[in-house]
Amino acid sequence: MIGYGEGSGNRVRAIFIQKPEDADRLILDDRCLQNLAVYLPKHEVRALGKPAIVARVPVLRSIQQLVYEQQLKEGDIAVIGVSDDGQVLDFPDLKSVGDFVSKIPLTLTPDEQAALKKLEAMSREERWNFWLEEMSNCIKCYACRASCPMCYCERCTVDCNQPQWISVPAHALGSLEWHIMRAMHLAGRCVNCGDCTRACPVKIPLALLNQRIIADIVDNFGEKAEYALAAFKPDDTEDFIR
Ligand code: SF4
Ligand code: SF4
Repeated sequence: MIGYGEGSGNRVRAIFIQKPEDADRLILDDRCLQNLAVYLPKHEVRALGKPAIVARVPVLRSIQQLVYEQQLKEGDIAVIGVSDDGQVLDFPDLKSVGDFVSKIPLTLTPDEQAALKKLEAMSREERWNFWLEEMSNCIKCYACRASCPMCYCERCTVDCNQPQWISVPAHALGSLEWHIMRAMHLAGRCVNCGDCTRACPVKIPLALLNQRIIADIVDNFGEKAEYALAAFKPDDTEDFIR
Protein backbone atom coordinates (compact mmCIF):
# COMPACT_ATOMS: atom_id res chain seq x y z
CA MET A 1 0.00 0.00 0.00
CA ILE A 2 1.40 3.38 -1.02
CA GLY A 3 0.08 6.03 1.33
CA TYR A 4 1.09 8.81 3.67
CA GLY A 5 2.80 8.54 7.05
CA GLU A 6 4.42 10.82 9.58
CA GLY A 7 7.83 12.15 8.55
CA SER A 8 10.33 14.25 10.44
CA GLY A 9 9.19 17.42 12.17
CA ASN A 10 5.59 18.17 11.27
CA ARG A 11 5.98 16.82 7.76
CA VAL A 12 4.39 13.82 6.13
CA ARG A 13 6.04 11.48 3.68
CA ALA A 14 5.13 8.66 1.37
CA ILE A 15 5.22 5.27 3.07
CA PHE A 16 5.05 1.76 1.65
CA ILE A 17 3.10 -0.63 3.88
CA GLN A 18 3.79 -4.31 3.25
CA LYS A 19 2.42 -5.95 6.41
CA PRO A 20 -1.14 -5.67 7.79
CA GLU A 21 0.22 -4.92 11.27
CA ASP A 22 1.89 -1.77 9.91
CA ALA A 23 -1.34 -0.35 8.46
CA ASP A 24 -1.90 1.91 11.47
CA ARG A 25 1.09 3.98 10.34
CA LEU A 26 -1.09 5.33 7.51
CA ILE A 27 -2.43 8.85 7.98
CA LEU A 28 -4.49 11.25 5.91
CA ASP A 29 -4.84 14.94 6.67
CA ASP A 30 -4.38 18.35 5.04
CA ARG A 31 -0.60 17.93 4.93
CA CYS A 32 -0.90 14.92 2.62
CA LEU A 33 -0.48 16.67 -0.71
CA GLN A 34 2.29 14.71 -2.42
CA ASN A 35 1.23 13.12 -5.69
CA LEU A 36 1.84 9.46 -4.84
CA ALA A 37 1.29 8.42 -8.46
CA VAL A 38 4.95 9.31 -9.04
CA TYR A 39 5.84 5.89 -7.61
CA LEU A 40 3.58 3.82 -9.86
CA PRO A 41 5.80 3.61 -12.97
CA LYS A 42 8.98 2.89 -10.98
CA HIS A 43 10.59 -0.53 -11.47
CA GLU A 44 11.55 -0.77 -7.78
CA VAL A 45 7.93 -0.27 -6.74
CA ARG A 46 6.54 -2.65 -9.35
CA ALA A 47 8.99 -5.28 -8.13
CA LEU A 48 7.22 -5.25 -4.74
CA GLY A 49 4.03 -6.63 -6.32
CA LYS A 50 0.63 -5.19 -7.11
CA PRO A 51 0.24 -1.96 -5.15
CA ALA A 52 -2.78 -0.27 -3.67
CA ILE A 53 -2.57 3.50 -3.60
CA VAL A 54 -4.26 6.24 -1.60
CA ALA A 55 -5.49 8.62 -4.27
CA ARG A 56 -6.81 12.13 -3.93
CA VAL A 57 -8.07 13.87 -7.08
CA PRO A 58 -4.62 14.85 -8.50
CA VAL A 59 -3.45 11.26 -7.99
CA LEU A 60 -6.62 9.94 -9.66
CA ARG A 61 -6.02 12.31 -12.56
CA SER A 62 -2.43 11.10 -12.84
CA ILE A 63 -3.61 7.47 -12.85
CA GLN A 64 -6.03 8.30 -15.66
CA GLN A 65 -3.21 9.90 -17.67
CA LEU A 66 -0.82 7.00 -17.00
CA VAL A 67 -3.48 4.58 -18.25
CA TYR A 68 -3.94 6.69 -21.36
CA GLU A 69 -0.17 6.62 -21.93
CA GLN A 70 -0.16 2.83 -21.47
CA GLN A 71 1.99 2.99 -18.35
CA LEU A 72 -0.77 1.29 -16.32
CA LYS A 73 -3.42 -1.20 -17.31
CA GLU A 74 -6.46 -2.79 -15.68
CA GLY A 75 -5.40 -5.06 -12.83
CA ASP A 76 -2.02 -3.37 -12.22
CA ILE A 77 -3.10 -1.44 -9.12
CA ALA A 78 -5.90 -1.11 -6.58
CA VAL A 79 -7.10 2.45 -6.01
CA ILE A 80 -8.43 3.76 -2.71
CA GLY A 81 -9.89 7.11 -3.76
CA VAL A 82 -10.43 10.09 -1.48
CA SER A 83 -12.73 12.88 -2.64
CA ASP A 84 -12.01 16.56 -2.02
CA ASP A 85 -14.41 16.47 0.94
CA GLY A 86 -12.63 13.49 2.48
CA GLN A 87 -15.00 10.68 1.46
CA VAL A 88 -13.54 7.30 0.58
CA LEU A 89 -14.31 6.42 -3.03
CA ASP A 90 -14.72 2.86 -4.18
CA PHE A 91 -13.17 2.16 -7.59
CA PRO A 92 -13.67 -1.41 -8.78
CA ASP A 93 -11.41 -0.80 -11.79
CA LEU A 94 -9.33 1.82 -13.56
CA LYS A 95 -12.11 2.61 -16.01
CA SER A 96 -14.22 3.85 -13.10
CA VAL A 97 -11.30 6.08 -12.01
CA GLY A 98 -11.26 7.62 -15.50
CA ASP A 99 -15.04 8.05 -15.50
CA PHE A 100 -14.89 9.83 -12.14
CA VAL A 101 -12.03 12.16 -13.05
CA SER A 102 -13.48 13.02 -16.46
CA LYS A 103 -16.35 14.74 -14.66
CA ILE A 104 -13.94 17.09 -12.83
CA PRO A 105 -12.61 19.66 -15.33
CA LEU A 106 -8.95 20.60 -14.98
CA THR A 107 -9.26 24.33 -14.38
CA LEU A 108 -7.11 26.89 -12.61
CA THR A 109 -7.99 28.38 -9.23
CA PRO A 110 -8.66 32.15 -8.99
CA ASP A 111 -5.20 32.60 -7.39
CA GLU A 112 -3.53 30.71 -10.21
CA GLN A 113 -5.42 32.76 -12.81
CA ALA A 114 -4.43 35.99 -11.05
CA ALA A 115 -0.74 34.97 -11.07
CA LEU A 116 -0.94 34.29 -14.82
CA LYS A 117 -2.67 37.61 -15.46
CA LYS A 118 0.15 39.39 -13.66
CA LEU A 119 2.66 37.74 -16.01
CA GLU A 120 0.55 38.51 -19.06
CA ALA A 121 0.41 42.18 -18.10
CA MET A 122 4.21 42.37 -18.46
CA SER A 123 5.85 43.36 -21.71
CA ARG A 124 7.67 40.59 -23.57
CA GLU A 125 11.02 41.94 -22.35
CA GLU A 126 9.82 42.11 -18.74
CA ARG A 127 8.54 38.55 -18.93
CA TRP A 128 11.79 37.34 -20.45
CA ASN A 129 13.77 39.05 -17.69
CA PHE A 130 11.39 37.66 -15.04
CA TRP A 131 12.05 34.10 -16.17
CA LEU A 132 15.79 34.63 -16.66
CA GLU A 133 16.01 35.93 -13.12
CA GLU A 134 13.99 33.02 -11.73
CA MET A 135 16.03 30.50 -13.71
CA SER A 136 19.30 32.00 -12.55
CA ASN A 137 18.38 30.45 -9.16
CA CYS A 138 17.93 26.93 -10.57
CA ILE A 139 20.63 24.56 -9.30
CA LYS A 140 19.58 21.74 -11.66
CA CYS A 141 18.90 19.38 -8.79
CA TYR A 142 16.02 17.86 -10.83
CA ALA A 143 13.78 17.55 -7.78
CA CYS A 144 10.97 18.96 -9.96
CA ARG A 145 11.44 16.13 -12.43
CA ALA A 146 11.74 13.49 -9.69
CA SER A 147 8.49 14.61 -8.06
CA CYS A 148 6.43 14.56 -11.26
CA PRO A 149 4.32 11.48 -12.06
CA MET A 150 4.43 12.41 -15.75
CA CYS A 151 8.25 12.60 -15.88
CA TYR A 152 8.74 8.86 -16.08
CA CYS A 153 11.04 8.62 -19.13
CA GLU A 154 13.90 6.26 -18.36
CA ARG A 155 16.31 8.66 -20.00
CA CYS A 156 15.47 12.34 -19.94
CA THR A 157 16.65 14.57 -22.81
CA VAL A 158 18.48 16.63 -20.23
CA ASP A 159 20.66 13.62 -19.36
CA CYS A 160 21.72 12.96 -22.97
CA ASN A 161 25.13 14.17 -24.06
CA GLN A 162 25.19 12.74 -27.58
CA PRO A 163 23.84 15.08 -28.80
CA GLN A 164 23.97 17.53 -25.91
CA TRP A 165 20.54 19.12 -26.22
CA ILE A 166 20.64 21.06 -22.96
CA SER A 167 23.79 22.58 -21.48
CA VAL A 168 25.01 20.92 -18.30
CA PRO A 169 25.98 23.85 -16.03
CA ALA A 170 23.23 25.58 -14.10
CA HIS A 171 23.02 29.03 -15.69
CA ALA A 172 19.96 31.10 -16.44
CA LEU A 173 19.66 30.49 -20.20
CA GLY A 174 20.44 26.76 -20.00
CA SER A 175 17.99 26.31 -17.13
CA LEU A 176 15.32 28.21 -19.06
CA GLU A 177 15.92 25.87 -22.03
CA TRP A 178 15.48 22.86 -19.75
CA HIS A 179 12.26 24.15 -18.26
CA ILE A 180 10.76 25.17 -21.61
CA MET A 181 11.60 21.69 -22.91
CA ARG A 182 10.00 20.11 -19.84
CA ALA A 183 6.89 22.32 -20.02
CA MET A 184 6.34 21.41 -23.68
CA HIS A 185 6.81 17.71 -22.90
CA LEU A 186 4.12 18.08 -20.24
CA ALA A 187 1.71 20.06 -22.43
CA GLY A 188 -1.69 18.42 -22.17
CA ARG A 189 -0.27 15.88 -19.68
CA CYS A 190 0.39 17.96 -16.55
CA VAL A 191 -2.33 17.40 -13.94
CA ASN A 192 -1.50 20.61 -12.04
CA CYS A 193 -0.78 18.75 -8.81
CA GLY A 194 1.83 21.37 -7.85
CA ASP A 195 4.44 18.86 -6.73
CA CYS A 196 7.20 20.25 -8.98
CA THR A 197 6.82 23.68 -7.40
CA ARG A 198 6.63 22.25 -3.86
CA ALA A 199 9.76 20.17 -4.52
CA CYS A 200 11.89 23.07 -5.75
CA PRO A 201 14.39 24.03 -3.03
CA VAL A 202 14.79 27.55 -4.44
CA LYS A 203 11.07 28.21 -4.90
CA ILE A 204 10.98 28.78 -8.66
CA PRO A 205 7.29 29.20 -9.65
CA LEU A 206 7.46 26.37 -12.18
CA ALA A 207 3.72 25.81 -12.06
CA LEU A 208 3.20 29.06 -13.97
CA LEU A 209 4.69 27.51 -17.10
CA ASN A 210 2.39 24.50 -17.07
CA GLN A 211 -0.61 26.54 -15.91
CA ARG A 212 -0.17 28.88 -18.89
CA ILE A 213 -0.42 25.83 -21.16
CA ILE A 214 -3.43 24.49 -19.23
CA ALA A 215 -5.14 27.90 -19.61
CA ASP A 216 -4.43 27.86 -23.37
CA ILE A 217 -5.86 24.36 -23.69
CA VAL A 218 -9.02 25.36 -21.79
CA ASP A 219 -9.37 28.53 -23.91
CA ASN A 220 -8.89 26.73 -27.21
CA PHE A 221 -10.40 23.31 -26.61
CA GLY A 222 -12.72 23.72 -23.63
CA GLU A 223 -12.64 22.56 -20.03
CA LYS A 224 -13.18 18.93 -20.91
CA ALA A 225 -10.42 18.78 -23.51
CA GLU A 226 -8.77 15.38 -23.30
CA TYR A 227 -5.15 14.70 -24.05
CA ALA A 228 -4.39 17.87 -25.98
CA LEU A 229 -1.38 17.38 -28.26
CA ALA A 230 -1.94 13.61 -28.13
CA ALA A 231 -5.29 13.38 -29.89
CA PHE A 232 -6.64 14.47 -33.24
CA LYS A 233 -9.93 14.58 -35.09
CA PRO A 234 -10.13 13.76 -38.80
CA ASP A 235 -12.25 16.88 -39.32
CA ASP A 236 -9.66 19.18 -37.71
CA THR A 237 -9.39 22.44 -39.64
CA GLU A 238 -5.59 22.20 -39.77
CA ASP A 239 -4.37 20.75 -43.09
CA PHE A 240 -1.46 18.81 -41.63
CA ILE A 241 -3.88 16.36 -39.97
CA ARG A 242 -4.97 15.02 -43.38
S1 SF4 B 1 2.16 20.10 -11.57
FE1 SF4 B 1 4.34 19.63 -11.84
S2 SF4 B 1 4.61 17.64 -10.81
FE2 SF4 B 1 2.40 17.88 -11.13
S3 SF4 B 1 2.01 16.85 -13.12
FE3 SF4 B 1 2.36 19.03 -13.56
S4 SF4 B 1 4.53 19.18 -14.06
FE4 SF4 B 1 4.23 17.22 -12.99
S1 SF4 C 1 13.68 21.65 -8.46
FE1 SF4 C 1 14.06 23.86 -8.76
S2 SF4 C 1 16.31 24.06 -8.59
FE2 SF4 C 1 15.86 21.87 -8.88
S3 SF4 C 1 16.02 21.60 -11.15
FE3 SF4 C 1 13.87 21.99 -10.68
S4 SF4 C 1 13.64 24.22 -10.94
FE4 SF4 C 1 15.84 23.83 -10.76
